[in-house]
Amino acid sequence: MSEPLPSRAKELQATSRSNLKVAVGLLTVHTTLSTHMFKLGLTEWQDCRLFGDEKEESEHTVSHCPALACKGTEPWDVCS
Ligand SMILES: [Zn+2]
Repeated sequence: MSEPLPSRAKELQATSRSNLKVAVGLLTVHTTLSTHMFKLGLTEWQDCRLFGDEKEESEHTVSHCPALACKGTEPWDVCS
C-alpha cells in the first residue's frame, strides 16, 4: 500500500462532510445505489434510476451513466 499524500489529505480535510460521505460511499459501495439496496433486500431492481441503462453501481454512476455525463469532475458536482 502506498503512503498517504499530504496534498490529498489537505484536500480531503477541506471537503465538506456531506461530500466526503458521498465519496466514501461510492468507494466502499455502502450507498443508496440500487445494487446495494438490492443486496440488502430493500428494493426489487438494480438498474440505474436515472437512465435505466445498466446496473446502478458506483463505477456506472461516476464514470458511465449518460444521465450524469454533464456533471463535473467530482462525484458530488451537479450541473444546472
Ligand atoms: Zn445510468
